Amino acid sequence: MGSQQEHIVMIPFMAQGHIIPFLALAKQIQQRTGFTITIANTPLNIQYLRTTISTTSDDSSRPCIHLAELPFCSSDHGLPPNSENTEALSFHQIADLFHASKTLQAPFHSLVSGIIEKEGRPPLCIISDVFFGWATEVAKSLGTSNVTFTTGGGYGTAAYISLWQNLPHRATDSDYFALPGFPDSCRFHITQLHQYLRAADGTDAWSRYFQPQIALSLNSSGWLCNTAEEIEPHGLEILRNYVRLPVWTIGPLLPPALLNHSPSSGSSIFGQRAWKVPGVSPEKCLDWLDKHPQSSVLYISFGSQNTISPSQMMELALGLVDSGKPFIWVIRPPVGFDIEGEFRAEWLPENFEQRMAESNQGLIVHKWAPQLEILSHKSTGVFVSHCGWNSVMESLCVGVPIIGWPLAAEQCYNSKMLKEDMGVAVELTRGRQGALERKEVKRVIELVMDSKGKGEEMKKKATEIGEKIRDAIREGGSSLKAMDDFVSTMLSRRQGY
Ligand code: UDP
Repeated sequence: MGSQQEHIVMIPFMAQGHIIPFLALAKQIQQRTGFTITIANTPLNIQYLRTTISTTSDDSSRPCIHLAELPFCSSDHGLPPNSENTEALSFHQIADLFHASKTLQAPFHSLVSGIIEKEGRPPLCIISDVFFGWATEVAKSLGTSNVTFTTGGGYGTAAYISLWQNLPHRATDSDYFALPGFPDSCRFHITQLHQYLRAADGTDAWSRYFQPQIALSLNSSGWLCNTAEEIEPHGLEILRNYVRLPVWTIGPLLPPALLNHSPSSGSSIFGQRAWKVPGVSPEKCLDWLDKHPQSSVLYISFGSQNTISPSQMMELALGLVDSGKPFIWVIRPPVGFDIEGEFRAEWLPENFEQRMAESNQGLIVHKWAPQLEILSHKSTGVFVSHCGWNSVMESLCVGVPIIGWPLAAEQCYNSKMLKEDMGVAVELTRGRQGALERKEVKRVIELVMDSKGKGEEMKKKATEIGEKIRDAIREGGSSLKAMDDFVSTMLSRRQGY
């Protein structure tokens, strides 16, 4: 390496599930190498990143992570003002947001050109979101490399990109179909496609965005994947065969506090987290959890963006009551209701919140919960999850098995892998149209919370995966080795400076 400080420029897609892992990646590269990192994004998301970074305790990382605002006015693109993030947008609007994101290409090009002018050479590389294939064109025109970062896992990412590129369900009348790149024995079902993917035919707004952008991302110099080699070897083999590029498995990028967590001691990570948690206080949840026996509590959350339908919400509530099991449920108003709206009798049994509080069976948390603290508490036994990749990794890292209810993006494929390859999950239903009855909710909860049989087996497997995750992200583990290999490959490709 020359004496001049290396610089990496990053551009995540504008959604929390992307921005958070990008920030974790930036911090990790910065801490391991001392490189300067610039993260570029829209003003609203930069504002969010600024608060997140300034509330971290490891301040040493601050001076070298620069944040760069790229001008973006959502209303210029027919979107509601300030909708620079996917939260609370309809699926039509999210498609519009994807298309509008292409207008970031020109200001991003100017940003990187400015860095080149100032530093006298191109940055070491650009790390761009898998959804922002256009960044490969910026990198190429400015004489640097582009590496694609997929914030999901190997299996889920491979399935998602292959689905968009090949639309295999269009070529058959059957409800089951094979997926290019996947073994023939591995069949996918039509209900595993989100409505926008099911309707896609190559000419719709979603296909018109995803197909070219994925193709461009496949032109980058390599892929970084937010997973570990040991936990999904099958999925990574499929991904590597599909992308035919170097894939560095540098994840999962989890908060360091989870690394030191011991599921057997059951100590929650409370107090060790590097940033402040919005919403309900962690103390309130932890005090409530303290009152319940080990591994007895269900934690229910559908991530940072998704909601379920009003009738599903009602059946879930009734099934929880019937099961008699204690639970913490992060509730958002269902589809069709204002995200900021009040709770209604149409989608929750009468006085549900109050009755659950009085009987001590359930703690309802509105909109946002301190998920890491809850998952790492010894009383938490099972996670009812939408199978977003971050949630899945957080849960497995602390040995908590999953009841899957995938809703969007690549969540159905994460759920499939968790069930079929890892044996750490069962699926309750799929999507917002998925059938759900209180009887089924009770049956699945009893199955998974059974300390013998299926429940015991899932717990054992989740604990084993948790150990593998923690080993991979420890010093000397496979993920940190992959990170070092990625950095040295980039340095060796730098020529003439
Ligand atoms: N999260 C949280 N509290 C909540 C909901 C989500 O802390 O009430 C965090 C969760 O720990 C995870 C992220 O938000 O880190 C959600 O990411 P994921 O990939 O699971 O799903 P997405 O929100 O992208 O659908």
